[in-house]
Amino acid sequence: MKAFAVMDRQGDMVAVFDSVGAAIETAKEEAAGAPVYFDGPGEDMGIEEPPPVEMALAANAGAARAAAKAMSACQLKAYDGVRDFEEIMEMDEDEAWERLRSYFPTRRASGRRLKAYDDAPTMAGNLLGQNYKTEKKTPRDVKRLVRERTGRSEATVMGLSLLPHTQVFNTRAAGGADVQDILSVARKRYGLSVIETPRANVCVRSTKECRASCLVFSGRNLADDYNTMKKYSLMQALYGDTEAFIRMLGRAIQRHSVGSHNVRKTPLVRLNVFSDIPWELVCPGIFSYFGDPEQKDAKRGYVQFYDYTKVPGRVVPDNYDITFSYAGDEENAVGMDHEVMESGRRVAVVFGLVGSRKEKGLARVAIPTKPPKGPGGFPEKFLGLKVVDGDKSDLRPYDPAPSVVALRWKIPANQGATLVSAGAFVVRGALVEGQFICAETPIRTRDYAAFADEESE
Ligand code: SF4
Repeated sequence: MKAFAVMDRQGDMVAVFDSVGAAIETAKEEAAGAPVYFDGPGEDMGIEEPPPVEMALAANAGAARAAAKAMSACQLKAYDGVRDFEEIMEMDEDEAWERLRSYFPTRRASGRRLKAYDDAPTMAGNLLGQNYKTEKKTPRDVKRLVRERTGRSEATVMGLSLLPHTQVFNTRAAGGADVQDILSVARKRYGLSVIETPRANVCVRSTKECRASCLVFSGRNLADDYNTMKKYSLMQALYGDTEAFIRMLGRAIQRHSVGSHNVRKTPLVRLNVFSDIPWELVCPGIFSYFGDPEQKDAKRGYVQFYDYTKVPGRVVPDNYDITFSYAGDEENAVGMDHEVMESGRRVAVVFGLVGSRKEKGLARVAIPTKPPKGPGGFPEKFLGLKVVDGDKSDLRPYDPAPSVVALRWKIPANQGATLVSAGAFVVRGALVEGQFICAETPIRTRDYAAFADEESE
């Protein structure tokens, strides 16, 4: 079977046909007088071939400055290594709780009293959490890798969920209320005594498209306004009293570490669930404090940290694993060159199928839909790298590197997302004879095959 894709001027797939005539007709209609090119073997369609595109792979020096820029955008104080963190950990945890408690809600919307932040132990127990992805059981093939590295076969993840980019403060979330609406009733409804919205940008390399598709607008995050309230509270506590917050974060990581080691599981912590803060620059001592595999003190037991990031050039400790996030624009692609070629990192890519939806009273509009699970649901190779299914679990540190970590596009609830709003962030493709195929574009024509070692091929 042959398939003919209609691409827009960025090279993103708009529709797929099984006849070249139908594809060209649609392309001409969509182009409305602009040039239409045909690129295919041995067909003379009487239209021009596209001009060749040169794309250089660049291991750029600018990437080295990106982490410092991210640090400056997030406006957090930098603590100095192990000594600073150990000093912070000497703070009495009741003092930390006292300093932070006003940043957190005291009741639920129903009026029921909320006990989650009543004292230091409960606050520490509620600082980190799980979502549908991080709470997934360790898949069987990953268990073997976890056992090889840690002697245990199960891993367990906890994450810190702050509110993402400042645009969240101005964006109406699906389901009605936006953050400003929620905050306007937060004192009365949630008993919140301090409302100080930090203006810092915690996702400095985010794009319009990734913000529109951000998972903060999906699933449980929107099921209850309290979930937004909680992320907001964590964010203002971090900014309102950073030292006390880091003390409580240290306690929360200890709890997770001790609890996991007690049941012979490997503890993982993801500090940026909806943010992109360079934690290795904010507080490097966190990683060394929990970074000694031989440590006998259970409260300092080894923890594997990991994150996804759009900031290239981050130099991280051994127990902090980083996967670069694909965004589909030129700045991101240049950063990706650095990450794969210089640092051998994985690249997380969101894939979607080109589908369509009938709009009320309108023609069908093109939308991406989720690729199916199982073989053929993702391309076998992308950017010249092996593709691994990143939805089976969130345990990125056990994936080969470099590789492409493929994620199915989770369509944000009620956001009315279309191919236009998803933009180049979602790599669009079509299923042809049960196999996901996608187009090469100037940005996606990068070929990193020469940088993959045997394990990741
Ligand atoms: S997708 Fe990631 S980088 Fe983009 S806004 Fe959400 S958390 Fe930030």
